[in-house]
Amino acid sequence: MTVTKKTRKKTKTAPSAKPRATAGPTTGEPPKDRQARALKIIRQLKKKYPEAECALHHNSAFELAAATILSAQCTDDRVNMVTPTLFAKYPDPASIANAKPADVEKLIKSTGFFRNKTKSIIGLGKALMEKHGGEVPDTMDELVALPGIARKTANVILGTWYKKNEGVVVDTHIGRLAHRLRLTWRSKDSKDAVKIEQDLMEVCPRKEWTYLGHALIWHGRKVCSARKPKCGDCNLVDLCPSAYVESEA
Ligand code: SF4
Repeated sequence: MTVTKKTRKKTKTAPSAKPRATAGPTTGEPPKDRQARALKIIRQLKKKYPEAECALHHNSAFELAAATILSAQCTDDRVNMVTPTLFAKYPDPASIANAKPADVEKLIKSTGFFRNKTKSIIGLGKALMEKHGGEVPDTMDELVALPGIARKTANVILGTWYKKNEGVVVDTHIGRLAHRLRLTWRSKDSKDAVKIEQDLMEVCPRKEWTYLGHALIWHGRKVCSARKPKCGDCNLVDLCPSAYVESEA
């Protein structure tokens, strides 16, 4: 979808307006135009975030997997505060597999849902030792069969550590931005991660899938936040159907 003259007029007159909470399907935009717009969006993101990468600190595939499990319902900054101590004590699958749950819980308590996360991390360590010789596998099927690892975490591990573009990570930021930028057309809302991922994979070139995930998360944090998108400071403004659009909520 191109930005209409009407939209541009709104841009000048309502610079502080919120975008729609849910942009909704883009029924009128031909797929080729959407693909061309997606490429331009990626180009703009690369200008602004040339180094966009995973914000979770890690030194191995195991650390990345554990940190991603801890990041559920928690900020990356908070996770980065607890993982140095956690990984100093449990640096690999073998050590965490034999950990006492109470000891792990104490270290990760501040990340929330710490009992479940402890079960997942210890379960992950055990499964890696029993089935994969202590190594984190590099295929989607093997990863999603592990405790605590669903498709989102598997995409993080495959894209960030193994540099394999098998899918697109969809978290809360990416779901929101995919809707505002109307890079999804089959999803019912910004939480419909399965459809959003399918749409992003269809509209964006495969080689960009991992970068796109990182860059949209950065953009969601720095510019296009849930409550106060800074459309006036956004270099995607001419490519975004939700720019300066009044909230429908
Ligand atoms: S992507 Fe940019 S222009 Fe679009 S709603 Fe977010 S901040 Fe505004």
